[in-house]
Amino acid sequence: MDNTDNRKLLFRSTNGRAPAVSFEQALLKGLAPDGGLYMPEQIPAFTAEEIQKFSDMEYHEIALAVGKKFLAGEIPDEDLERIVRDAYNYEIPLEHVLDNSFVMRLDQGPTASFKDFAARMMGRLMQYFLNRNGGKLLILTATSGDTGSAIANAFYGLDNVNVVVLFPEKEVTDRQRKQMTTLGKNVSIIALNGKFDDCQALVKQAFGDSELDYLNLSSANSINIGRLIPQTMYYFYSFAKLRSGDPGEKAVFSVPSGNFGDLCGGLIAKKMGLPVDRFVVATNENDEYPRFVESGFYEKLVPSRNCISSAMNVGHPSNIPRLVQMYGGTMDENGNIGTAPDMELIRKDMYAVSINDEETQAMISEAYKESGLVLEPHGSVGWAGLQSYLKDEKVSSEQLCISLETAHPAKFPEKIREILAFDPELPPSLQGLEDKEESFEHLPTEYDAFKEFLKSNYTK
Ligand SMILES: *Cc1c(COP(=O)(O)O)cnc(C)c1O
Repeated sequence: MDNTDNRKLLFRSTNGRAPAVSFEQALLKGLAPDGGLYMPEQIPAFTAEEIQKFSDMEYHEIALAVGKKFLAGEIPDEDLERIVRDAYNYEIPLEHVLDNSFVMRLDQGPTASFKDFAARMMGRLMQYFLNRNGGKLLILTATSGDTGSAIANAFYGLDNVNVVVLFPEKEVTDRQRKQMTTLGKNVSIIALNGKFDDCQALVKQAFGDSELDYLNLSSANSINIGRLIPQTMYYFYSFAKLRSGDPGEKAVFSVPSGNFGDLCGGLIAKKMGLPVDRFVVATNENDEYPRFVESGFYEKLVPSRNCISSAMNVGHPSNIPRLVQMYGGTMDENGNIGTAPDMELIRKDMYAVSINDEETQAMISEAYKESGLVLEPHGSVGWAGLQSYLKDEKVSSEQLCISLETAHPAKFPEKIREILAFDPELPPSLQGLEDKEESFEHLPTEYDAFKEFLKSNYTK
């Protein structure tokens, strides 16, 4: 073993019954063989001085510093630098709203949702390793709207990766669907006559099906560690750009949450040394997590509830086992708790709140009237969650608060028009979609049909 290998961080399954692997293996596998999720064996840390220096750095430079902490010894720094520069070539606006509260717009990527941050980095990392070591992958992804288009876009045109995306037919907007179905090439799209959870169940079953081993299946869902690491970077970035200079300053982040990948990115950033006072964990009416924080008992919601913040209609968030592990507990993929996490610490670090559709719509209207802030439903859940926290806990108006806007309002034109009576301006990345031709399959929710689709379309 040479020096480089000694520095490699290892990744372990949250179920604890699979061997530790390198980042490359964790990335290409997605799910651990024991059904658990990969997590770094230790979470690397920055010093306060290192974090201080971020204030003078650009996004891709901060991304490189964070990425190096996890990938040193696996990817030479110059290659990683090329990857982050190429992946993060768009703006991350930090919009001042009122007092010391800001909205971080993570919606300027090619598919106009925050999922571009993770997908673009993950796609480039997978391509990097496959080019280096050979091999082919078939990526299966279940989407409630935004993952599918971000993944399809990030992998479109690669020659050693094929992509199959399943989406719940009735739960995505026309525009979201068109972002996936107008690509073609190595990207296949399936409309399922069911809910997001049905899509996710099919993907999981395919992973466990040894008859499909020959396809070299991998996942691009937020269970993939390759998506999680990029989601720590913008927490560092926003704090670096908005901090006042007071050495003891800590930020409050409000995170609209569905599968909890975004939140886990924030929790990892905090463990790495980012000064965070509290996370506001804002869900829609799928309130299994706020109820868990209150009671200490976890109960998944089946079926999940349909809300207007459709990308967050998740009744059993796939990243919860990671969160539980970060607080000293264990949870399997079905939501069963082995060792209880430190609930007191969870409550200290997180304020969890469920925002219903009525409150979500009212906040879109109120934020625009009072502050000229244009929010779409997901960002509105986050902003409403933050307002609830500030009021409930009588937080000082000087507290630095950063609320994440996870999609561009123009992805939900029907809602915005209905509430604000205007059409949000289309970002360049979404222009011209209407005129493109769509192509996709329809399938029922039965596994056999899906398996047959895979077997007949993909050979060795
Ligand atoms: C996926 C998504 C979310 C939820 O993010 P998670 O990491 O799954 O919690 C929120 N908003 C939008 C627009 C999304 O696409």
